[in-house]
Amino acid sequence: MAKNLLCIHNARLVSGREMRHGGVVVGPDGRIADIAEAGAPPVAAESVIDAGNRLLFPGFIDAHVHMRDPGFPHKEDFESGSRAAACGGITTVMCMPNTDPPVTSIDGFDAAREAGELSSHVDFMLQGAVTPANRQERQDLEEAGVASLEGLMSDVPDGDCLDRTELHVAVEGTAACGGVLGIYTGDRSRLETAITILRALGRTDFRSFAEARSPKAEERGIRTAIAASRKYKARIVLRQVSTAGGFELARAAKASKRKAPIFVEATPHHLHLDDSLVERFHGLAQVIPPLRSRSDCDAAVRALADGTVDFVASDHAPHTQDEKAGADCWSVPAGIPGLDTLVPAVADLAARGLISWPDVARLLSETPAALFGLAGRKGSIQRGADGDLVLLDPELRRTVSRTDIRSRAGRSPFEGTTLTGWPVMTALRGRVIASDGKLAGGPPAGIFLKRAEPSWRS
Ligand SMILES: [Zn+2]
Repeated sequence: MAKNLLCIHNARLVSGREMRHGGVVVGPDGRIADIAEAGAPPVAAESVIDAGNRLLFPGFIDAHVHMRDPGFPHKEDFESGSRAAACGGITTVMCMPNTDPPVTSIDGFDAAREAGELSSHVDFMLQGAVTPANRQERQDLEEAGVASLEGLMSDVPDGDCLDRTELHVAVEGTAACGGVLGIYTGDRSRLETAITILRALGRTDFRSFAEARSPKAEERGIRTAIAASRKYKARIVLRQVSTAGGFELARAAKASKRKAPIFVEATPHHLHLDDSLVERFHGLAQVIPPLRSRSDCDAAVRALADGTVDFVASDHAPHTQDEKAGADCWSVPAGIPGLDTLVPAVADLAARGLISWPDVARLLSETPAALFGLAGRKGSIQRGADGDLVLLDPELRRTVSRTDIRSRAGRSPFEGTTLTGWPVMTALRGRVIASDGKLAGGPPAGIFLKRAEPSWRS
């Protein structure tokens, strides 16, 4: 008889609703075969792990990752990025479409899928792009099983930006096919005007990059996106919400009688890092949206605790240290790595009592799985689900250093931040792929995940 792959006992199992003592057995097929009661003796398996009463979570999902592969392997490739994910407690990544070729058509989709199947240590989904030029290709991408389609209202070149008309076409299409549309909002005309003025003043400092992307511009974009979601009853993800005003608009839209099926993403850097770090990290801290004030960070944490935020994702966007070292903000690329620090950044909020441990399971596992078509397979510890499991030490307290950044980016503005609650073991479909921040050493075993039929009813 084939042997069970994994038995973890003496754990505290965390779901989006509760914590309970017990254990998990993953069968020979890589799926969860049994959930044991507290005190039950361990069963035979290839790996038997005594959890020492630490927390056992369903594998964490990062629904916003720029893997840079194919096209920009000097910044990151699937191997290096997915290594950072595995060591960081993430078992599924969802990869954004701005690769080369971009995932605007099936050709780009196939190239990205091939890159992942060749070298990913964790399971992955792909996200397709929405641009004014690819109206015809979107149906093909949906049928190929993208997690979502993704569009931008600002901060991209002319040909890729969605104006009001293009936004409405995309939102209507999303409603018709039952998919999910992720939108980075912003306000393009305000952004362009601000940049023109700042440049005319000779400003090149990193504060000016943030000034060009004001909270007002974010709020205006969010209003536009919520109105479109409401009009077509389309499921929209508001990506990277970063301001107190933005969270308030989302909160009000969710509470309104004229409900809009919107979902809100927050990033770990907007939860923890405020704009004072720009003076210390310069280009390394340059990101879109920019780091905000401390009161915006506090508002983001409150929005997590009260359910306004549906999930946290890293917006992992690595660049080389050379690219980040420039002194002129207009020539330094925006984006920071996040796969290494996503899980401890969210766990730390629970360790400090600002959110609960079940909130961590909801924000990093259950909701992204359900929203992007993986319910039943990922995101929860239940019989028949994939044996993706992460053991987390809720008391492990560490200050982030350069050696924690396994991404090819090599540096992060989280350096120097002390976080409590770190992943110590990651298992993918019953096989341990990383322990104590190191890869277990097996060949990359990640597989492509196709989005299932929509299962989410908001
Ligand atoms: Zn992004």
